Amino acid sequence: MKLDTMAVHAWHKDGKRTSSVTPDIVLSTTFERNTDGTYPDGFVYTRGGNPNRDALESALAQLEGATHAFAFASGLASVNALLQTLNTGDHVIIPDDVYHGTRNLVTETFAGWGLAAAAVDMTDTANVTAALRDNTRLIWLETPSNPALKIADIRAIADIAHEAGALCAIDNTWATCVNQRPLELGADVVMYSTTKYFGGHSDVLSGALIIGDEHADTLGTKLRHTQKHTGGVPAPFDCWLLLRSLPTFPLRVRQQTANAGKIAAFLAEQQTVHTVNYPGLATHPNHEIAAQQMSGFGGMLSFCVNGGGEAAVNVANRVQLITQATSLGGVESLIEHRASVEGPNSPTAADLLRLSVGIEDVDDLMADLAQALGG
Ligand SMILES: *Cc1c(COP(=O)(O)O)cnc(C)c1O
Repeated sequence: MKLDTMAVHAWHKDGKRTSSVTPDIVLSTTFERNTDGTYPDGFVYTRGGNPNRDALESALAQLEGATHAFAFASGLASVNALLQTLNTGDHVIIPDDVYHGTRNLVTETFAGWGLAAAAVDMTDTANVTAALRDNTRLIWLETPSNPALKIADIRAIADIAHEAGALCAIDNTWATCVNQRPLELGADVVMYSTTKYFGGHSDVLSGALIIGDEHADTLGTKLRHTQKHTGGVPAPFDCWLLLRSLPTFPLRVRQQTANAGKIAAFLAEQQTVHTVNYPGLATHPNHEIAAQQMSGFGGMLSFCVNGGGEAAVNVANRVQLITQATSLGGVESLIEHRASVEGPNSPTAADLLRLSVGIEDVDDLMADLAQALGG
């Protein structure tokens, strides 16, 4: 099956239990036991497994071209679960501009449990090699990065990880499997905040890990235990909302990607904009690698306006159709002044605005940006 077909039908494999055409919600937290001690459908208690979660995990794995996925109550709960498979004294390498929640987990929460970490600029793979230690067990990638849209070479960094006996995991939230397929490039683990493009309607918080089949018995077993033992699982209704979103997921992402490409080109021509960060632009410093490893450049971009932080805030305040809010991946376009969201120690340029491009008509979006930029 091709991706679009799979997005519509993948849930049937493990989720179709009745003749209903759409998934049923199973809210029961507990499941009846037979007199011989077995359980008719294999479900015992919903923290360990639930029909809606099973269907979601199975569908997410299929979309990624894998067989094992693990759903969590948020993107960060899934990062947390992966980090919990490591041991005290292990070392991880993260990008210097990794998602701030991931940075906090690694450098604050897990540092307290003896996890060592190095943060490097991964646009140059030599920095990754230089940061390796004997005890490096995980290299964490995020490409395109947030909010500067920096690109790291997935295949090269996966090779570096494997030579060092480490796993390569990637936060693929921004590109999604529609535009970038890291398992096929050698990555071992794909992580998603499914809150974003998979959910796609800004109404469900959730996350997932998907692993290459070769890790099913090792990492997969550990993750299944962690998921059950720590309990950061999504509710059946949240799984159902995601299942409801999956059929339109590739359609939405392709429209968002097409819109973002046009908006990036439009912004690059504006006199009031001095920088546009979008890997699809030939002017992007890593455009060549992006073009090799991405089939589309995604629905996220950022741009810097003339006049500094105040001018940027003014643009975000002037948009009419686009909503000023954090987060991304929804059907509606969102704009954000990233530095003020990240707080006083933010490394982000004060004149930078981040745009999550929605599925609206691109002409309406460009007209809104034009009036907000005073163009
Ligand atoms: C939103 C986001 C996360 C965190 O996911 P939550 O669902 O909010 O926990 C992690 N990585 C990236 C790239 C994100 O955009």
